[in-house]
Amino acid sequence: MTPKVARYLAEQQPATPCLVLDIDRVESNFRALRAALPLASIYYAVKANPARPVLERLVRLGSSFDAAGIEEVEACLEAGATPACVSYGNTIKKASAIRRAHAAGVTMFAFDSAEELEKLARHAPGSRVYCRILVENAGADWPLSRKFGTDVETARELMLRAGEMGLDPYGLSFHVGSQQTSTAAYEAAIGKVAMLFTDLRDAGVNLRMINLGGGFPTRYRDEVPGIDRFATAIMQAMTGHFGNALPEIVIEPGRFVVGDAGVVSAEVVLVCRRVKDDPIRWVYLDIGRFGGLAETEGEAIKYRITTPHDGGETGPVAIAGPTCDGADIMYERSNYRLPMALASGDRVELLSTGAYVTTYASQRFNGFAPLAEHYI
Ligand SMILES: *Cc1c(COP(=O)(O)O)cnc(C)c1O
Repeated sequence: MTPKVARYLAEQQPATPCLVLDIDRVESNFRALRAALPLASIYYAVKANPARPVLERLVRLGSSFDAAGIEEVEACLEAGATPACVSYGNTIKKASAIRRAHAAGVTMFAFDSAEELEKLARHAPGSRVYCRILVENAGADWPLSRKFGTDVETARELMLRAGEMGLDPYGLSFHVGSQQTSTAAYEAAIGKVAMLFTDLRDAGVNLRMINLGGGFPTRYRDEVPGIDRFATAIMQAMTGHFGNALPEIVIEPGRFVVGDAGVVSAEVVLVCRRVKDDPIRWVYLDIGRFGGLAETEGEAIKYRITTPHDGGETGPVAIAGPTCDGADIMYERSNYRLPMALASGDRVELLSTGAYVTTYASQRFNGFAPLAEHYI
């Protein structure tokens, strides 16, 4: 937790549950990434946290943006981004959304199928297009692989066709999965697309760009490799395959930019043993799976939790949300321990919740309002 967030929580005691996010931390994360990978263009993945103050700060820093939908495209433009800095990176887009983005001046679009390529040719003629390749997501705590990307042979065919369809075959992309903790995942993926890249160039296609996606991890309960380790592995792989003739490099970080800038402040609603002598206490918070903690699905993302009793004796707990839904359990199998002194009414903090939390909050399920947000 940054000192600014700690001070805000102590002084303001905002109503819970809420997210408090330090915009200066967003800036320092962005600067760290730019320093580590100076040759890469950074397209912030808006879906990680689309709040206006985040977008405005990133516009000021010269970031570009990866938008998942037309509303995100428009949010970037409203925050001051130029259309040339916005990539429409979702491979699944309505025709009407493609038309609106194109009319707004967006010229860069992703695809991973012949059908989507045809939609782009029809509704965004002349645009720069890049094809997403399916790569291994091993090492990622939040994998994305099955839903997106095509194989190298299909990508080759589609990129050859893109030019004939009046589009500009601009590049290739992949995503190694979110919260990726292995630098080897990037090395393997770069190797795969580099071969196709070279092959297509030899076939006369004017490819210029490789998009390495996002995936860079935030520190949650477990330690993760620093951004410099990823940068070194990526640049070694890129120069190993391309020498001095590097293509344009694009990265699309989401989680890394905003994750550790935010803290969720929550209230303990109940601590109990529902069965006599149960060694496990159940801790119910006023935020859960439906209040924004969707990435606890499968206990994939393990947030660090701080309490007013830290340092005291701890015991095993299961941690759940406040709704009347049986799926609203965050952690049962991940060996969480919390202080024995924890009691209802205590305020706790879930650390590094700046990414993929606010927008996952449901609308009034069980009557609960969406998560309150404070950008400081
Ligand atoms: C979600 C997403 C990202 C951001 O991923 P992070 O793991 O948050 O860095 C980047 N690119 C695409 C295409 C995505 O879908």
